[in-house]
Amino acid sequence: MIPFNKPYMNGKELYYIAQAHANGHLSGDGPFTKRCNAWLEAQTGTRKAMLTHSGTAALEMAAILADIQPGDEVIMPSFTFVSTANAVVLRGGVPVFVDIRPDTLNLDETQIEAAITPRTKAILPVHYAGVGCAMETIMAIAARHNLIVIEDAAHGILARYGGRELGAIGHLGCLSFHETKNVISGEGGALLVNDERFVQRAEIIREKGTNRSAFFRGEVDKYTWVDLGSSYLPNELTAAFLWAQMEEAYSITERRLAIWQTYHDAFAVLEVAGLVRRPVIPDGVIHNAHMYYLLLPDLETRTAFIDGLKAAGIHTVFHYVPLHSAPAGRRYSRTCGDLPVTTSVSERLVRLPLWIGVEEYQEQIIDAVIAQVQALAGG
Ligand SMILES: *Cc1c(COP(=O)(O)O)cnc(C)c1O
Repeated sequence: MIPFNKPYMNGKELYYIAQAHANGHLSGDGPFTKRCNAWLEAQTGTRKAMLTHSGTAALEMAAILADIQPGDEVIMPSFTFVSTANAVVLRGGVPVFVDIRPDTLNLDETQIEAAITPRTKAILPVHYAGVGCAMETIMAIAARHNLIVIEDAAHGILARYGGRELGAIGHLGCLSFHETKNVISGEGGALLVNDERFVQRAEIIREKGTNRSAFFRGEVDKYTWVDLGSSYLPNELTAAFLWAQMEEAYSITERRLAIWQTYHDAFAVLEVAGLVRRPVIPDGVIHNAHMYYLLLPDLETRTAFIDGLKAAGIHTVFHYVPLHSAPAGRRYSRTCGDLPVTTSVSERLVRLPLWIGVEEYQEQIIDAVIAQVQALAGG
């Protein structure tokens, strides 16, 4: 079976973990965490990068920083991972789901203003598949209505919109280094604090609500409980692993882009024949090949397609179950409109294997996909 995902490791992870072992500093914010933070700051231009133990943790920190209070509303897509919404619900906030664009599958910026109410506190766009949302429009809407923008850039490492790195455009940005992402540490993430206003409080929230970071810099003579907080730091072994990946982040992205392009070129014939729709990358957007997906005609075709490829020894998957239709979504959130694009896309989207090393199977995958799509169209 050709797996859907296989985490890429380059070997240097073990070398750096051995160094962390020798350093004897195992808890958070040791030398490897500092290196990773500095790399993220240099790479993205963010004011302050802070590694977290997951992308979910970064989103939770962002929701605390945005001061989401019970009843406050946050506009986001329903077509996303649960953590985007959970971060808001954990503060007592209400996710307000807006439909996605049919081309990029990102939050439809033309529908955001209709969803704004006096309770709206923030906009939480998700850069689906590492393809940037229309950030200049979203930032302009936020400025007009005095809202905070939190980017869910879990897919977005090294991708750009209008020349700027995803996650470093809004007030706050959240990255993930989960093993299914491009640059990984098993579990892991980072908060990018782009707005100076939030830097000091972010440090405190990440350190269990204490001013421990200021204490270590010698700015206060004792550290104490000063605010809300939790434990959001990764340990140094995780950061050591991640550092080996960051050193290779450019070559990882290049290899993924080559795989992505091979799929894209091969499936042009299917799109021309009207049998599938391929991903759309708008002008001014530099993506990072986080994923390759196809949109099939309907749910029945997709189910048969996934089964057919499985029989051919190829594992493909779909996502997301729209959050507004999920049991917890119905309890904790509301929608703005009917979300027809979200519903349609969630029934028709299939993701193909995209991992470093899949190149040697790619011809086999492409042949099987084309044969399956044509057979389903003919039948
Ligand atoms: C992966 C992901 C997250 C959460 O990241 P973790 O590191 O797994 O906690 C959040 N949002 C989106 C869109 C994701 O794909």
